[in-house]
This record gives sequence, structure tokens and C-alpha cells, in this order.
Amino acid sequence: MLYNYHTHTTRCRHASGTDREYVENAIAAGMKTLGISDHAPYLFKNLSYYSTYRMFTDELFEYAESVRSLAKEYEKDIRVLLGFELEYYPDFHKGEMEFLSQVKPDYCIMGQHFLGNEMGETYCGHLDKPEQLTRYVSQVLEGLATGDFAYLAHPDVAGYNFPQAHIQKEYLRLCEGAKALNIPLEINLLGLLTHRHYPNKQLFDIAAKVGNDVVLGVDAHEPKYLSDKALHEAGKQMAEKLGVKLIEQPFI
Ligand SMILES: [Zn+2]
Ligand SMILES: [Zn+2]
Repeated sequence: MLYNYHTHTTRCRHASGTDREYVENAIAAGMKTLGISDHAPYLFKNLSYYSTYRMFTDELFEYAESVRSLAKEYEKDIRVLLGFELEYYPDFHKGEMEFLSQVKPDYCIMGQHFLGNEMGETYCGHLDKPEQLTRYVSQVLEGLATGDFAYLAHPDVAGYNFPQAHIQKEYLRLCEGAKALNIPLEINLLGLLTHRHYPNKQLFDIAAKVGNDVVLGVDAHEPKYLSDKALHEAGKQMAEKLGVKLIEQPFI
């Protein structure tokens, strides 16, 4: 892999390793570009709501400084970019992007872990009502249309616990919508490694027909997966087998 734009840090509280170890593992793997994209601190404006799987809002500047200083230190070996992975939450999106813009990120990717505005919602991986899949696709497309996201991480996180015809219809709507917006879909290597319900052939068969651009994302929560060449190769082989259009070169 020559790039990876999906990398976490310990600030999200469910990843391990130092920021430096992530960079050094990416260099060891021969990557040209490493995007660090931890779960964004989320500004639930005027609310005391606590979101458990992301960095705190007061860690924003320290995170950005750490990534930027490593980028400088290793600039001869690799391009290190500052990014975020976040959801599109309609009530808060505008304020959130203004909040993140304080550190001038290079890019954001969408990983839609919850519907609505997160509060009171079920994790997207546990949805089972057909209308929830419809909501997922609509919310993702509305978010992608803002132009604030470089790609869609684990597009099929909403899963397959729905009637087959509904899955086909809604994931087709997702793939066609992303294609119209020219936004790539991710084959998520963490999901592949840990045998999650994603990445799944059903969605990527549709993506192959629609002609979506596809990217590999390590979704690294441990530095070692950035240099796990067998894992990267498995992702590449999956893309080849599916016949999807894999982006091979860094694109951000
Ligand atoms: Zn995570
Ligand atoms: Zn992630």
C-alpha cells in the first residue's frame, strides 16, 4: 500500500501505541502518504453529552501539534497528513466543521457509526429494521453532499440484517450517490482482519457494477497493522476478486 488515510491514536481511548510508532510503521511498509484520522473530538454544542469513543474537545490542538511535528520530522521519509474520521450529524455539522477548522486539517473521512445526532441511537453495526438502513443511506448521502469528506469509511457498517431486496436497493442507492459525488468507498482492513460484517461482497459487487472508486483503509488502532503487508495484500486481492476500481496512488 502506498497510502493509508485511516489511522487512529490513543486519544480515542480504544487504540494503542504512540503517534510516532504509527508513522514509523507506515515508513517501514513503504507508504508514501500516511493520513492520521483519529475519531474527531465532537462539539455537541451547549450539551453536556459525553461521547465515549473519541478524543475530548480540549485535545484538539495537542493532537494537531503532534501530527504536524511528526510530519515535519519525517518529511524526507513520508508525507504525514492531519485528518479526522467523523460522522455527519445534521444538528451539529456546521459548528463541528468550524471547530475542526481551527487546526486546518488536510482532510476528513466519514465513518458513520451512529444515525441522527448520535444521542439515543443504536450503533450502526447493530441495526436490524429496514427503515434504519434507509435512514443510514440517506444520512450518509446528505453528509457526503456537504463536500466535507474525502471518502466513506466502511460504507457497509450498517450491515446486512435486513431483507435481501432492501439491502440491494439501499446499497445501490448508496453506491450511485457516492459515485455521483465522486467520493470513493473504503475496503476496511480492520473489518477484514477481525472478520466483522464489513467489508462485504454484497456491497462491493454493487460498487463494481456502478463503477465506484475504492480505497483501502487500514483503520489502524495499533501501529503494527500499518506495516502488516499480508493484511494489505489481502485487501488488494479482495478488490481484485471483486473487480472494483482500486485507487493505487495517494490521492489526497
Ligand atoms: Zn475506532
Ligand atoms: Zn476508524
